[in-house]
Amino acid sequence: MAIPPTLCVGIDLDDLRYYRGIHALPPAVETPVVFERAVPRFVDLCGRLGLRATLFTISSDLRWDEARESLAHAARAGHEIASHSRSHFYDLSRKERRRIEAEVAGSRDDLQDALGVPVVGFRGPGYNLSPTLLSVLAQTGFRYDASILPSPAYWAARAAIIGGMRLAGRRSASIPGRMRDFLRGRRPFVWGRVAPGLKEFPITACGPARLPLIGTTLTRASPMRDHLLWFARRLPFVHLEFHAIDFLDIAQDGLDPALAIEPALGVPLAVRMDSYEHALRTLGAGRQNPVLAAM
Ligand SMILES: [Zn+2]
Repeated sequence: MAIPPTLCVGIDLDDLRYYRGIHALPPAVETPVVFERAVPRFVDLCGRLGLRATLFTISSDLRWDEARESLAHAARAGHEIASHSRSHFYDLSRKERRRIEAEVAGSRDDLQDALGVPVVGFRGPGYNLSPTLLSVLAQTGFRYDASILPSPAYWAARAAIIGGMRLAGRRSASIPGRMRDFLRGRRPFVWGRVAPGLKEFPITACGPARLPLIGTTLTRASPMRDHLLWFARRLPFVHLEFHAIDFLDIAQDGLDPALAIEPALGVPLAVRMDSYEHALRTLGAGRQNPVLAAM
């Protein structure tokens, strides 16, 4: 795919219960804080900067009025709604085909029914793919996948954390995933035999260390952040990924202090918001900004 300088922005609307699962924290009372606080902050920021984004949504969250309302508001503002599965199983890629179909096509149908917008894109929980998952996406009519994070450093760090937890007798809900998916290139491509015609839009990874261009690496002004932005500005296709947790704050939003184990939550929200605005302004300058479905 030959493309002009482009910035695509995505956000995964993962509920806090999935972070509790990653870190083996006990379950807590569930609230729609992602949709009450994080989504409005993200949509406001994009609105101020004139940017559009793709919101990867877990369709079981549609049980909340707050979710349906904030997603409908985002769609009216020109953002794309895409699927982040129905239940966010980290091992979705390893499940049997019928289960994958229910999670993938089912989430698309849930989102389309609730919001009345077309849903054509998918991001796998934990960036995990498999031939079966890719084939289901192609066969059930998805136009693109956006699960590839070509950062071996990310893969290795995650595998080390999961392994360390296991040694300590704690079981993470996350899985290491297929290493080869984290070794791919940065450019969009079309899958071949495994998922004919399905487009792939990799999340950007930068520099010799291939650090991922995600909310966690952009939380505050630092030489690392500025190196990532400097590098990304030289790429034709930039795909920046946020998570809802990047737009939450432990004190302001009354979150469980145990969640401070997540790096983004260790930085004050106002500092993060300034840094994200700087990153989006820097990367958006002189670039087209389609939602992924329009690529
Ligand atoms: Zn997720």
